[in-house]
Amino acid sequence: MNVDSLLQFDRNHLWHPYTSTTHPLPVYPVTSAAGVRIRLHTGQELIDGMSSWWCAVHGYGHPVLVEAIREQSERMAHVMFGGLTHDPAVDLARLLIELTPDPLDKVFLCDSGSVSVEVALKMALQYQQAVGRPQRHRLATVHGGYHGDTFHAMSVCDPVTGMHTLFEGALPRQLFAPRPQCRFDAAWNKNDLTAMAQLLARHHHEIAAVIIEPIVQGAGGMWFYHPEYLRGLRQLCDQYEILLIFDEIATGFGRTGVFFAAEHAGISPDIMCVGKAITGGTMTLAATMATTEVATAISEAAPGVFMHGPTFMGNALACRVACASTQLLLTTPWQERVLAIERQLKDELTPAIELPTVADVRVLGAIGVIETHKPVNMALLQRFFVDQGVWVRPFGRLLYLMPSYIIDPDDLSKLTSTLVQAAAMTV
Ligand code: PMP
Repeated sequence: MNVDSLLQFDRNHLWHPYTSTTHPLPVYPVTSAAGVRIRLHTGQELIDGMSSWWCAVHGYGHPVLVEAIREQSERMAHVMFGGLTHDPAVDLARLLIELTPDPLDKVFLCDSGSVSVEVALKMALQYQQAVGRPQRHRLATVHGGYHGDTFHAMSVCDPVTGMHTLFEGALPRQLFAPRPQCRFDAAWNKNDLTAMAQLLARHHHEIAAVIIEPIVQGAGGMWFYHPEYLRGLRQLCDQYEILLIFDEIATGFGRTGVFFAAEHAGISPDIMCVGKAITGGTMTLAATMATTEVATAISEAAPGVFMHGPTFMGNALACRVACASTQLLLTTPWQERVLAIERQLKDELTPAIELPTVADVRVLGAIGVIETHKPVNMALLQRFFVDQGVWVRPFGRLLYLMPSYIIDPDDLSKLTSTLVQAAAMTV
């Protein structure tokens, strides 16, 4: 198709994420992607700073992943998971059980991050019913979170920047404590947990679970908080028999410098969601992990089963490439690479704090953030980034990078210098 008619059709008929159909921002036609380069129809190549929203940790078109997809699609792309099972699902579950904190040993394979959050929340509600506490059907969380766009997931997203006002009346009303304030690398301030402790003390009789993104709040503000918060939260949840759910969809698979962000705190949740980088950015897949205690309680009470079962549950193609991607990660020096990226991001982004337009700079693992005082002009900056030969997509007051782990120092320098230039333009 010629590019003008492609763009015309796209503009007339396709919805893009969080986009108007009548006044859409421009989109850029892509013809291929390889390594850390995204190739546009013009032949221009952009250095990718986004890993396609936390996913493409090995870059694009890695031969190991391409081969896994080819081989599995010839054998069997998909069969229903009701009454059937297969190697790819079992191999992936084995890997996930090995890699996640110890007590998580039951795996529910599902289609996307939001679905895995729905599954986690439903598990928590069904668990509380099963153990004789049916009145516990609310959820507690913190401000600044993001857990997905489906209904229950939306209800635990930040109540101000999320979609609560838009769907007022249709969304369940959950309980919110302030965002953890204490920075990841600051001295711990125990008062940080006081508001959450008070909330749980007041409402524990109606709370099924607390859901939280461990250490890194992603789309809700790219904020990194102190691991001690999670240790305290674990204790509070135990005290009040509330389940603790970690949403590791963005943080999993090495992004923060450890394999799962829970490791920074050395604790484990009762339920954990993983997704995004699980397939190395090739296919949609997620998983909800639970402890045997949660799974057994659900299974031993009426109706004797967990009530969820998506059509594409355990998709063989996605599970096979997830195994290949995870094994590839484990056989490469992913941690050294992420920590080298962290050092470079710190060196090259920190000077931006001197800019009058910049409110904060923070880096953790392969995530670098410049927060500006004023919201960025998306249309202007998107064009600027493409003109500079990089792919970066800011939002709100946040300019950020989360590159593939394979990026080399020169490409990363190009990303950081362009990000700093863009931050200076945000007036
Ligand atoms: N939880 C977190 C922490 C996320 O970052 C996201 C996606 N940005 C989701 C849930 C939702 O995942 P998906 O977009 O795959 O539904």
